[in-house]
Amino acid sequence: MTQKEKGADGTTPQGIASNSILPADHSLVKPRGSTDNQRFIERKLGQYGLTREQAKKKLLDIFDELNVNKFKGELPGKPWLEIDLVDGARASFRNCGFRVSIYVSPFCEPERYRRTMLHEMCHWFDNSHGEAFQAKLKELAHGEPWLEDELKQCVKRTRKSF
Ligand SMILES: [Zn+2]
Repeated sequence: MTQKEKGADGTTPQGIASNSILPADHSLVKPRGSTDNQRFIERKLGQYGLTREQAKKKLLDIFDELNVNKFKGELPGKPWLEIDLVDGARASFRNCGFRVSIYVSPFCEPERYRRTMLHEMCHWFDNSHGEAFQAKLKELAHGEPWLEDELKQCVKRTRKSF
């Protein structure tokens, strides 16, 4: 998928939304699926003191908690969730109808898991970072210390694509 194939709102035609922030050491990103790649992901998670399974468990627990407490169970349970390199992004979200799939980059620090998951889950309502997305984020992340920053990033991402 090249930049050109992406829609004007930064999402892909397949409805994949990505939380696109290039990690500082993006150059280290290796091709998906290779053994090198898997080792790289595990080493990166190890820097946070987490195994891949522990990181996934943390993210899934956050998904469940947010789905109950913020989203009133509107998202389908048991998401397909994997930790993988996400095209220079922090995470990506795909609405498969009966299920959602979420990829979280190993570059996403555990301190950002809640913020990242809330962001990705808001894509259930809007694939872009446009007005509907921002309204949902404002509503559900009300009172979170990072909300203002997150909204600023959304505006930047929306503008960038024009
Ligand atoms: Zn996003």
